[in-house]
Amino acid sequence: MEERVSCSFCGRLKPDTKILIAGIDAHICDRCAEQAHEIVLGELSSKERQKCSDGLTLKKPKEIKTFLDRYVIGQERAKRTLAVAVYNHYKRLLDKQSPVQNTVEIDKSNVMMVGETGTGKTLLAKTIARLLNVPFTIVDATVLTEAGYVGEDVENLLTRLLQAADYDVEAAERGIVFIDEIDKIARKGDNPSITRDVSGEGVQQALLKIVEGTTVNVSPKGGRKHPDQDFVQVDTRHILFIASGAFDGIQRHISNRINTAALGYNNAVKREGKADDFLRHIQPQDLRSFGLIPEIIGRFPVLTHLDTLDGKALRKILTQPENAIVKQYERLFELDGVKLIVKPQALDYIVEKAIGLELGARGLRSVTEAVLLDFMYELPTAGKTSFTLTRSRVARAFAKCEKARLEVA
Ligand code: ADP
Repeated sequence: MEERVSCSFCGRLKPDTKILIAGIDAHICDRCAEQAHEIVLGELSSKERQKCSDGLTLKKPKEIKTFLDRYVIGQERAKRTLAVAVYNHYKRLLDKQSPVQNTVEIDKSNVMMVGETGTGKTLLAKTIARLLNVPFTIVDATVLTEAGYVGEDVENLLTRLLQAADYDVEAAERGIVFIDEIDKIARKGDNPSITRDVSGEGVQQALLKIVEGTTVNVSPKGGRKHPDQDFVQVDTRHILFIASGAFDGIQRHISNRINTAALGYNNAVKREGKADDFLRHIQPQDLRSFGLIPEIIGRFPVLTHLDTLDGKALRKILTQPENAIVKQYERLFELDGVKLIVKPQALDYIVEKAIGLELGARGLRSVTEAVLLDFMYELPTAGKTSFTLTRSRVARAFAKCEKARLEVA
């Protein structure tokens, strides 16, 4: 009788199966169980993919901008531009996945951001990547070299993206690559080396291919140190590239172009506090004089600028963003059981000093760190439960740091 029992899915009799598993009213054989397992895996991954694409479509430009507002102060224009560019980019991706064939091909919308150091270029890109939940990597253009030269091959930026995607090629192919200091790619180093392509043109050509969209053989662990590893093929057509640079002196170019008197411009605009006015009028051709080849410029059709941060913006950056510098220090002190109270005048002082450093918001952290160092050294063993940072305390601490720095120099 036992021999007559069969698989309820394929009908195979028990003697013809390796294993026949009994359920309440039915049986399943080893082969059907395996097939069912494969079907389940397939279904799940397509559902996952669907979920991913759904997630992407859900982020409308306004939602992206609202999210950015939580972390990045000011930079309205750049936020709007990025929000639209990213939204369009993912719309384009979804259009490609759509079963309905369309003859209109939407072009990629890679972004170029121009703005002084410490104005939030990297922060914007990082924040967007966090929202979209896609693999994201930052590469510094200054270390990229042509294959065979000392430095990093341009292809290595895809290795990094692949690593950020946990080696999920499909995810990496939808990721974001942020290329920092793109303006330095063509510049001769201060100490030109014979091992480097000094014009940077070779690097730019290599970069161009990747940005335009091609299939690249990527070594999963990176270039030359692991020559024996297998390559993984990565299609770069759908990867979003965001490039950024300070393009020092670009305002003068813009002012020349739009026929504004450039003579004594720096002084004039500083006095009026409108140092970034010209940036608003930036055009692709203004980037030409920085040694970028026209094809590269053309491949970053979305050009936007970041405003220079004034005192008011810096003051907000100290306290307002979700992970504002002051909030971070409050938490650090709290972990030692100390309540940190920062007086508004102390914040004003930090801002004044940060402006002097001309490092944008980066200066805020340097100044705050320098000012708080001695207190952070003393407080954990001082047995206090609160600590108030006043303007005079900050000023004294800062003067001490300055003195130490001058002595070292
Ligand atoms: P860069 O423009 O040189 O890429 P970053 O984005 O790296 O500058 O900024 C350096 C740091 O300064 C960031 O980590 C962030 O803490 C702070 N920061 C810069 N700009 C802003 C901004 N607009 N809003 C909030 N924080 C900012």
